[in-house]
Amino acid sequence: MMRVLDDFDFSNKRVIVRTDYNVPLDAGGRIVDDRRIRESIPTISYLLKRRPAVVILMSHLGRPDGRVVEKLRLDRVAKKLSLILKKKVVKLDDCVGGEVLKEIAGLPFGSVVLLENLRFHPEEEKNDRNFAKQLALLADVYVNDAFGCSHRAHASVVAIADFLPGCAGLLLEKELKMLSLVLKKPKRPFVVVLGGAKVSDKIGFIKNLVKRADRVLVGGAMVYTFYKALGFGTGKSLVENDKVGFARELLRAGRKKLVLPSEVVVADSISAKARTRIVGARDIPEGWVGLDVSPKAVDEFKLVLKRAGTVLWNGPLGFAEIPKFARGTNAVARFIANLDCTTVVCGGDTGAVVERLGLARRFSHVSTGGGAALEFLEGKKLPALRALEKNAEKFR
Ligand code: AMP
Repeated sequence: MMRVLDDFDFSNKRVIVRTDYNVPLDAGGRIVDDRRIRESIPTISYLLKRRPAVVILMSHLGRPDGRVVEKLRLDRVAKKLSLILKKKVVKLDDCVGGEVLKEIAGLPFGSVVLLENLRFHPEEEKNDRNFAKQLALLADVYVNDAFGCSHRAHASVVAIADFLPGCAGLLLEKELKMLSLVLKKPKRPFVVVLGGAKVSDKIGFIKNLVKRADRVLVGGAMVYTFYKALGFGTGKSLVENDKVGFARELLRAGRKKLVLPSEVVVADSISAKARTRIVGARDIPEGWVGLDVSPKAVDEFKLVLKRAGTVLWNGPLGFAEIPKFARGTNAVARFIANLDCTTVVCGGDTGAVVERLGLARRFSHVSTGGGAALEFLEGKKLPALRALEKNAEKFR
């Protein structure tokens, strides 16, 4: 069993917290969505109330591949965090080494520090023990609050747990509680809404959830691979030919569970100016591409959703980056938000949709983990969670 914050006494302790501040940036390096920063606040506030000597935050941002990349520095994250937290956040220019140790030792009692992007050091992604040891040297207790990074065997979430006592933060705890509930004890009927680009990205997830769910509503580009498996023409829609067999097998095994849209919106190109038509699933014309579920298909989905005891949603139901193909996704988002049952959203794109529509608070849980949530729901044991469990044994 992994430990939680309440199992520790943090007073006078130096606490190092792995957060997930891998936030989306625009071309100018500005933060587009600060949800991951906001979600880290409960743990930081919890710790500050316990009078720790210092709270040291660490994260990666983007893919600098082991080099210093100026636009991936965490200064903007520190500023944003400081605004939300209403407290000064001291940003350091590195994450390990004598200079970092010295700077932290010189700070006033109760300071909040953000270390520089962990992935500026190639050792982070290599789960390097020595690098992890240097991070551990900065603190007395380790907290993992980065669910979104917990499927990676990296130094700041795995190797570090070998060097100092540790526990899960409040966000990590909440993620595990909600995703476990969906996986192990969903109130029935359990309805999964499955969208997004590719079947191949989500094979394990799809298999596990089709097994557990009562109904699976399929939308997004993956629908066309299923249509092809049924022998329908798919025009220029995205089809994964090597997954048609998998789709056919799922349709055979889970025929009563899978709900495919009876109609889709097709377009003559993927652009905001494209001509569009609504056609039956069997009638996609040559040369046209399927980009959304139709209003009638949304109604079919609503009929199933309104009886649900639990809803799990992953993946947009259409090409939602272009507003005219986001209508199905938006309509289903609004409908689920108004349901009186447990509603969980996972996946970066789907979370962004719910956030953009201002609906995040109306869901029981919007997971901060994209790949991590998919792997967890696939039934995999995530390396960072295993590391925390081992840590609890080692530092008992
Ligand atoms: P995923 O990361 O697998 O959840 O996929 C999200 C992506 O799937 C988004 O970029 C969507 O625009 C894309 N998508 C959804 N429906 C379609 C479609 N019908 N054709 C092409 N891309 C789609």
